[in-house]
Amino acid sequence: MASSIDREADVVVVGGGIAGLITARELSRTGLSVIVLEARDRLGGRVFTDRRLGRDLEIGGNWLHWVQPHAWAEVTRYGLGVTRGPRPEEAYWLAGDQLRRGTLEEFMRLIDPGMRRLLADTMRFIPRPDAPTAAPELAEADRYSVQEKLDELQLSVEEYHANEAAWVGHFNAPLTDGAFSSALRWTAATAGSWHLMHEASAVFRLAEGTQALVAAIAADTAADIRTGAEVRRIEHQPDGARVHLADGQTVAAGRVVLTLPMNILGDLDVSPPLNEGKLAASREKTASRGTKVWIRVRGPIRPFFAYSRGAEPLSVVRTEYIGDDDAVLVGFGADSTRLDVTDRDAVQRALAVWRDDLEVLEVTGHDWMSDPYSRETWLMNRPGQVTRYLAAQQAPEGVLHFAGSDIANLWAGFIDGAIETGLRAAREITGALRTAHFRTAAPVGTST
Ligand SMILES: Cc1cc2nc3c(=O)[nH]c(=O)nc-3n(C[C@H](O)[C@H](O)[C@H](O)COP(=O)(O)OP(=O)(O)OC[C@H]3O[C@@H](n4cnc5c(N)ncnc54)[C@H](O)[C@@H]3O)c2cc1C
Repeated sequence: MASSIDREADVVVVGGGIAGLITARELSRTGLSVIVLEARDRLGGRVFTDRRLGRDLEIGGNWLHWVQPHAWAEVTRYGLGVTRGPRPEEAYWLAGDQLRRGTLEEFMRLIDPGMRRLLADTMRFIPRPDAPTAAPELAEADRYSVQEKLDELQLSVEEYHANEAAWVGHFNAPLTDGAFSSALRWTAATAGSWHLMHEASAVFRLAEGTQALVAAIAADTAADIRTGAEVRRIEHQPDGARVHLADGQTVAAGRVVLTLPMNILGDLDVSPPLNEGKLAASREKTASRGTKVWIRVRGPIRPFFAYSRGAEPLSVVRTEYIGDDDAVLVGFGADSTRLDVTDRDAVQRALAVWRDDLEVLEVTGHDWMSDPYSRETWLMNRPGQVTRYLAAQQAPEGVLHFAGSDIANLWAGFIDGAIETGLRAAREITGALRTAHFRTAAPVGTST
């Protein structure tokens, strides 16, 4: 550790997303000095409210729900308003090459038998979603992709495409890559109800945007928060760490919390290196590699919901905002390379699978897969990853601690999971410091 020190803190938090900000808030409240180092020029990470297409749009994470205990505690704490998009008045789906049109209720009835059969044993595999790998049965389920389990059901073509599209919407990935265990984890978090899982993951949002949550947490901490501060290298020893930034500065800290997404954590230069479980997960990457696009169309239109199938550039599209002479839709697809979210004509073509009557005016989105500070969207594991790696991903290593929604227990991949892990990392550190304090304070000759 030869370099000179520019700053010192009790704790450095790497990453100013939700997990990092929660960690910083909790630790600074105990009187510790905390520095947050965020590479981007904004806070929030994979939540990002931005003014586009004439509205404040959620470019990243959006929906939350009262069954997500950590997220809802923040809603209550800061008095954040909650709202929802317009209720769909019609639904579109495919039966092979034929287009079907009906109500959302009819679509839900269509997918219900497949959903029930697929998820029937959820609570046997995951009786406690807050300890997702506790039951030995999960390892058996974790061998399979959700595609394999869907194929076993031998559904009719219409049911098959409808179920497939609904799962692509959840996984943001080709279903051949997505772990069946991830579907089980989401459903276990809603006590086995696929309907509630569906609602929890895709209906309610913050009235003032996720930016309101980010701003509230950031304003509620005495931590020194820096943006434009990319961390390149970390050296750690049993008594502390040095954190080296891209601009050449070095910060010394007693403890460091790393909140980087799983897909990029392994690229950080850490010495001694991180455990093999963390590195292997990072090399293998998440299953999720999909797309989210915002689409402004000419109005007036009736709010609708549309599901296609996994192979289309967009598998799910719905109305999120209705205006007098326009509407804004949000769409999701399995693979970000299939659709340029800034190409209006490509999005117009993708929509035509259901609707060639809509005129696309403008489109926008963000390529999270190419973004060097995420390289993923929301966590969906590949088969085997959760049973093989989750414990190693969560484990502290010396003075290094880890947070981030990707390594949450309950709602991994969600805003809720980011908060859960921020709280956990802060608790680990205060617990470790308390233990160290008692050791130091103990009378000579005791062995506490
Ligand atoms: C398109 C999309 C849609 C989503 N939809 C939902 C949804 O509807 N509901 C929901 O609950 N969740 C949703 N999510 C997931 C949710 O947004 C994330 O799980 C959550 O925000 C992750 O928070 P985090 O703090 O764990 O990670 P991040 O937000 O990724 O934070 C990590 C931070 O580390 C920073 N960083 C990276 N590298 C470095 C470095 N070298 N040095 C310093 N800083 C670095 C990053 O810039 C980032 O700010 C969605 C995500 C996406 C992308």
